[in-house]
Amino acid sequence: MRYRGRFAPSPTGPLHAGSLVAALASWLDARAHGGTWLVRIEDVDGPRCAPGTDRLILEQLAACGLVSDEPVVWQSTRGTAYEAARQSLLQQGDAFACACSRQDIELALLAAGAPRERHHAAVYPGTCRPEHGGLRGRPARAWRFRIPPRARVEWVDRRLGPQTQDVAAEVGDFIVQRADGLWAYQLAVVVDDAAQGITHVVRGEDLADNTARQILLQRALGLPTPAYLHTPLVLGDNGEKLSKQNGAQALDLSDPLRPLHAAAHALGLREADHGVPEALARWTAAWAARWRA
Ligand code: GLU
Repeated sequence: MRYRGRFAPSPTGPLHAGSLVAALASWLDARAHGGTWLVRIEDVDGPRCAPGTDRLILEQLAACGLVSDEPVVWQSTRGTAYEAARQSLLQQGDAFACACSRQDIELALLAAGAPRERHHAAVYPGTCRPEHGGLRGRPARAWRFRIPPRARVEWVDRRLGPQTQDVAAEVGDFIVQRADGLWAYQLAVVVDDAAQGITHVVRGEDLADNTARQILLQRALGLPTPAYLHTPLVLGDNGEKLSKQNGAQALDLSDPLRPLHAAAHALGLREADHGVPEALARWTAAWAARWRA
């Protein structure tokens, strides 16, 4: 199997110390395996993307010596592929149209005495499932993946070890296309990882919780499941995960070795002096010794 990895930033803000950790780790893992490293711009959520940020991220990566081995792919150009996947799911009975507003879902959960939120989102109560009567004359707002009955997914993360999630109980039928027509991250990432032949996903630990959902989608669409490694998160001064949302600073790249050192440190790698290429080479060797299968 020829290793293919990727870094898939959402251009909602410039690269920060946290996202550089994921970028560096995915690059090191690809190099340590003698593989190919790709950059994919995940701009499906257009309204949340800041204009020009995609280019800025690519420049920031390049300043750190991290350059995609193949042309960069923008998810905003991939609608036809997502539509084809949605059609397959619908035809197989693995997706259904949903008319529920957020409020409808809240009320249904309240009526059922069910917890209103798990994993940062309401567990969909199944109102519009075909077996519950479908849309019942209401207009379709969104499309949801129909979680199969036995949906306890088990997978092994290369860093975190064995993981398990009962997707039916903990997440519920999740959205693949939103009411505003936008494609959901879960569907886009699964379709593109497969289309790009990604064998190894290396990304931040905050995304680990999505993996079981993505594995269910891969199974439904007959797509392979890559190996997963979720990297440690960088915490801000307030002890919270560093993110664009909580105001993480854009990287100061006047001396790229400084942010690179911080990212390497978060990955348990020692400081390396000299220039960027030398440091990357040294970290690749250290990474290979630790993480190569
Ligand atoms: N686009 C996602 C993000 O920036 C990452 C997706 C992934 O690596 O699977 O959070």
